[in-house]
Amino acid sequence: MHHIIIFGPPGVGKGTQSLLIAEKYNLFHLSTGEYLRKAIDEETELGKKAKNIVEKGGLVPDDIMTGIVIQALKENIGGKDGFILDGFPRTLDQAKALDKIFGEMKIGGTEILYLKADEEELVSRLLKRGRKDDTEEIIRKRLRIYIETTEPIIEYYGSTGQVIEIHGVGAVEEIFGSICEKLG
Ligand code: ADP
Repeated sequence: MHHIIIFGPPGVGKGTQSLLIAEKYNLFHLSTGEYLRKAIDEETELGKKAKNIVEKGGLVPDDIMTGIVIQALKENIGGKDGFILDGFPRTLDQAKALDKIFGEMKIGGTEILYLKADEEELVSRLLKRGRKDDTEEIIRKRLRIYIETTEPIIEYYGSTGQVIEIHGVGAVEEIFGSICEKLG
């Protein structure tokens, strides 16, 4: 059983590695970014609320995101050997809310996979990806929010000692290999 949170800056490869990990370990994969983009494409109520925020590189409010994660976990972890969360938590309040959810759902033994790469590498990768929120200005804004709001959460997790650091530069297969070694 694996309960994984994949953590790191935009562009570090969380999405790519998450898919490989989910397949190998039979995990439910939730990407909150993908979930929001789908809602935006389908013009659901959530999509209408989130569109402007996501396209400008801001953060969707914590209560909305927490609600999405609770519901998705409850509906999808049956029959799986755990889950991997990608893109959540992104704020300290989300991290605390997640701890509460885990407590209520009796989920323990979380593994935090922390992928790292330097900023210029990230910007150049994101510019190549070319999603709607991948213009240089919006990328820099997302990186700033990451450094100011998201990255500090790692200290919160570090105090309980379950953070696994992975160097996120190199071939996809190589990075996946080092993740698998650490996950066991
Ligand atoms: P990236 O991998 O480039 O960071 P994501 O696909 O994870 O992009 O997220 C895209 C956008 O979706 C974010 O910039 C943000 O606007 C929104 N989003 C995703 N997850 C969250 C979250 N946990 N809290 C708030 N906003 C979120």
